[in-house]
Amino acid sequence: MLDETHDASLTSWVESANVPECDFPIQNLPLGVYRPRGHHLSRIGTAIGDSIIDLAPWLEGSTLDSYLKLPRSQRRDLRKTLSGALRKGATSQELIPQTECDMLLPASIGDYTDFYASIHHAANVGNMFRPGNPLLPNYRHLPIAYHGRASSIVPSGTHVQRPQGQTGAGLFGPSRNLDYELEIGALLGPGNQQGQPIPIADAEEHIAGLCLVNDWSARDIQRWESQPLGPFLAKNFATGISPWIVSIEALEPFRVSAPPHELPALPYLQTGPETAFDVTVEAWLRSARMTDPMRLSRGSFRGMYWTLAQMIAHHTSNGCPIRAGDLIASGTISGPEKSNRGCLLELTWNGADPLHLPTGETRTYLEDGDEIILTGYCERNGFARIGFGTCRGVVSPART
Ligand code: MN
Repeated sequence: MLDETHDASLTSWVESANVPECDFPIQNLPLGVYRPRGHHLSRIGTAIGDSIIDLAPWLEGSTLDSYLKLPRSQRRDLRKTLSGALRKGATSQELIPQTECDMLLPASIGDYTDFYASIHHAANVGNMFRPGNPLLPNYRHLPIAYHGRASSIVPSGTHVQRPQGQTGAGLFGPSRNLDYELEIGALLGPGNQQGQPIPIADAEEHIAGLCLVNDWSARDIQRWESQPLGPFLAKNFATGISPWIVSIEALEPFRVSAPPHELPALPYLQTGPETAFDVTVEAWLRSARMTDPMRLSRGSFRGMYWTLAQMIAHHTSNGCPIRAGDLIASGTISGPEKSNRGCLLELTWNGADPLHLPTGETRTYLEDGDEIILTGYCERNGFARIGFGTCRGVVSPART
């Protein structure tokens, strides 16, 4: 549903928001939790241009916890209010430079589920380990996922300590196959009562907004431990998220239809048109010896086999309650081309095809000191470009 907040001709009295390549124009208005450096209290704010506006006049709390419990209509009303307050001609207010703030987790994240919704990612991984039989028989019938840990979700900028773990019989030590996964997450709310599934037509009522997710993964630990029950310690040592939550309302102009399914979904998973979102996502690497990062991949969220609405409908189809503050992530976003592959496992084909960095270094998996930077943005003719900011993390050495 498009409204006046999406008008591409809107400009803000915050001049830095009017630069065309800006991630945070007045059409975006993402929410997050910030702490001015040198202070100890966190606050909620909206990103506008290179600045932050404190949300205290409109929203209570030091996290987005209560915002996530609001019905979608009230979240939409807040967006309209903020759009009016930041429009050129409105009374200017105090601006806090983003460079003078630390960004924290946006909410108290209760539960975290990671899906596996890119059929390209699933097929690539399947081809590596089951040549000729890449997709397991259930893939086109339901959105596959595993339950992750909310306790190890960290905000962008947090160093990621190389995990130790079992990598084979009698082997315990630092992971030697540390990888990233380029994903999009949805921060959920208000949620459903236990025993009452969310019908797919209502699923988006429970998505407050989207962020970038880096599902850091230790492939050597994963290979050894994940039979027969799936990922465990290979993926719960750190999961990074970008700090600004881009509301589902801000994404309205970028709705597209998901790719057609060869096999019709069961009725509870059937959606109408335009329930996917065209978000371009990129992963960049900067080793300790590099000045500028190099792009590893660029893909699009629009090509995912399963949409966020389908993930929510499936997640709750057995009566499982989703609560305000839960996070779901999409799974690695890969596409049909090599340049679309969203993790090193795929890009280096499990180490068989190393990456060459401009410094002369090579990579199969991540080394200590490597920084991974994820970005995301939406562009469409006739609409303002909106961005997600970045999700960053530097690998630090294993604990000794
Ligand atoms: Mn993942």
